Amino acid sequence: MKHIAVIGAGTMGNGIAHVFAQTGFSVALIDISEASLEKGMGTITRNLDRMLDKGKISKEDKTRTLENIHTYTALEDGLEKAELVVEAATENKELKLKIFRQLDTLCPENTILATNTSSISITEIAAVTKRPGKVIGMHFMNPVPIMKLVEIIRGYSTSDATTQAVMELSKDLGKIPTEVNDYPGFVANRILMPMINEAIETLYNNVAGVHEIDTVMRLGMAHPMGPLQLADFIGLDVCLSILNVLFDGFKKPKYAPCPLLVNMVSAGKLGVKSGEGFYDYATTRKAEIVAARFS
Ligand code: NAD
Repeated sequence: MKHIAVIGAGTMGNGIAHVFAQTGFSVALIDISEASLEKGMGTITRNLDRMLDKGKISKEDKTRTLENIHTYTALEDGLEKAELVVEAATENKELKLKIFRQLDTLCPENTILATNTSSISITEIAAVTKRPGKVIGMHFMNPVPIMKLVEIIRGYSTSDATTQAVMELSKDLGKIPTEVNDYPGFVANRILMPMINEAIETLYNNVAGVHEIDTVMRLGMAHPMGPLQLADFIGLDVCLSILNVLFDGFKKPKYAPCPLLVNMVSAGKLGVKSGEGFYDYATTRKAEIVAARFS
């Protein structure tokens, strides 16, 4: 494969485009929002600069990577050569179904259609296309240029050939692909999100403050980052969407999103991307506790 398209230039999409472009693929990065494309390209440039400063890449690598990425605001553009599409648009089922119907019409019939969804059924997404054997989950982790794992999710109809191609491709990117089956939340978020939700519930029940909860999990369980800080990095809206998928899929109260999470998302406090979540990111890149509200 030489030509890849990435749909969505947000937190994940720009990281996915970065990794493919750095490996030598020509990448069409498509987002409905011009501002997201600009922000995404800014993030890629900053991340490449950081790698350059650390001596991990050369100046030529940086230039070549940026030259490999072409941005578009319309889905109709940039898809004609794509051998693989990785969809990384907002975590919303209706939106993803709509995008996959369009992709199925616009892409050559051999194109593999992958989604970076955190939790939405691959089988359901595949079913709106005429190529369910070529639809697969390719769940990168955040931040994409750094994290090694790609959770490869086989939908009910995903073919062996598609799975094999995407496993090999992930290895070419320097990642470690792990194959799992298609049930709500797959493996990563089925385990991670109940833990994050429980941390929020612990805060909501006033058992401890943000700092204390994250410290217990960092120092006590050897997690590199506390669950509340991690939720801020993932995006609280994304966490809420995933919990809703788990709750709808399993119909068990243990997956019900904590009311504090629901309130924060309604208030637009989405974590790092909005400048405030459990921590304040507006004044400093370092996480400062929003003390007044949560201590
Ligand atoms: P985000 O909100 O940062 O970015 C989503 C982008 O999609 C935005 O730039 C938006 O403009 C764009 N978009 C919306 N509708 C579109 C359309 N019709 N066509 C093209 N672009 C469109 O979201 P994100 O955190 O990058 O999440 C993207 C996907 O990755 C979701 O499915 C999410 O579940 C998954 N994911 C997120 C994380 C994480 O840590 N944030 C980790 C793994 C997977």
